[in-house]
Amino acid sequence: MEHQLKTVPGEIAAVEHKIASEKAAIESAKIELRELESKKKLLETDIGSAEQKVAQYRTQQLSIRKNDEYQAMGLQIDTTQAQIGELEGQELELMYAIDEAKKKFAAAEAVLKANISGHEERIRTLKERTTNLTAELKAAQEEVAAAQKPVPEPALRIYNRIAVRNMPAVVPIRGGKCGGCHLKISSEAESAARSRSPDPTAALPICDQCGRIVYWEA
Ligand SMILES: [Zn+2]
Repeated sequence: MEHQLKTVPGEIAAVEHKIASEKAAIESAKIELRELESKKKLLETDIGSAEQKVAQYRTQQLSIRKNDEYQAMGLQIDTTQAQIGELEGQELELMYAIDEAKKKFAAAEAVLKANISGHEERIRTLKERTTNLTAELKAAQEEVAAAQKPVPEPALRIYNRIAVRNMPAVVPIRGGKCGGCHLKISSEAESAARSRSPDPTAALPICDQCGRIVYWEA
């Protein structure tokens, strides 16, 4: 339980990291869309000023008397109008791209938001687990403390040493074999278990193979 409790904060941090990257993905999609829209605005300004220029040229053209100058102005009007046509073509392409980006953004946002709420649910579960585990751990610790109370210190020390690597730490002898490692028990250990005095301070019979505390099952 202690180990499980220790892993929870790391798991929560990992999920929070996922949420942050989903949010970053939404944000970068938004920025892309905004960039396209500001490009479109710039194009519209360029088109507007080109149109103004054409109107200006036309007014100027009215007061031109010389034929070659008149024609030169006409050429300038044509060139500017061709530029406008080109800019309008670019604008159309941009509008199409914006439309696509909006569709993609809406779809991506829906997926990412669903992911985020899944992650948030996971965090709630993890936090609940922390609460439950903490309560269970406290109960288990109290149980352990209560169980340890009547046990003499040397026996407790032996038990605790075995319990960290070999659980269960106390096993019966069955058919001359250790109930933990299932290897043959030495006759010394077996007779020690058979004749063990009920005195709690007497030495504990130990399996020679795995070190577990053994007892004779009558
Ligand atoms: Zn054993």
